[in-house]
Amino acid sequence: MSALPILEQGHLCHHGETLAYNVRCGRPGRVRMTLRVTPDGQVDVLLPPGAPPARGHAMIQQRADWVVRQWQRFRQRRLDALPSEQRDRRYVLGTLCRVEWLVAHSWHGVSWQSPESSASEGRIIISAKSGAHAEALLHNWYAQKTLETACSRLACVQESIPWVTTPPPLRVRRLCRRWGSCSSRGVITLASLLYRLPVPCIDYILLHELTHLAVFNHSPAFYAKLAGLLPDWQLRRKQLEAFPSPWQPETEANLQEP
Ligand SMILES: [Zn+2]
Repeated sequence: MSALPILEQGHLCHHGETLAYNVRCGRPGRVRMTLRVTPDGQVDVLLPPGAPPARGHAMIQQRADWVVRQWQRFRQRRLDALPSEQRDRRYVLGTLCRVEWLVAHSWHGVSWQSPESSASEGRIIISAKSGAHAEALLHNWYAQKTLETACSRLACVQESIPWVTTPPPLRVRRLCRRWGSCSSRGVITLASLLYRLPVPCIDYILLHELTHLAVFNHSPAFYAKLAGLLPDWQLRRKQLEAFPSPWQPETEANLQEP
């Protein structure tokens, strides 16, 4: 059906929802107008060939109740189909936050509310059009937060590191085997999920990689330099073990209070 040419597009605003739709020209021989809502949330009006698009827009308005109800029903079905590990909780800066998955109106994105007190839970609100879309949005959000945090932490620690005179290039990637790496050309790559970790652990990973700018291997000289920057690095490395690493699926089993 999606191969049918789109004549015009519009937005239906009804009962607090805003949904996009297409007015399409039906196949030759079509005599009736038809409304179609597909399970992935696409809304189409099919017109008989030659009919003016205005008739399609009028039909959507007349049947707005039905269209929105169908669209909401499919949205709920897509939400129900999300794997259970996507419904639960994720770490942000070392604290577990309840994830609320919405499939919403015109807004798609991620919003995070940090816990109000040590006794309360933070919330991550994700609004997306499908489970896969939600997962992608969340991943991008983590990646962006990781980069912002790493840049600001780098600015804080840089002055105390004698061999770092100019800030090295920082990259954030979907690393599967480690939290960070440093290339022989001095580019530091960090795992996009670094933002799961508390700041002391983020600092530990960042300083580990920054130490590689002075000593490229993991020799005693490397650890001596690292200890000079971060005397409690072993404690922080231990703390890190409490968090799911990027190479583990984040399921209920490995979500634990730090
Ligand atoms: Zn290393």
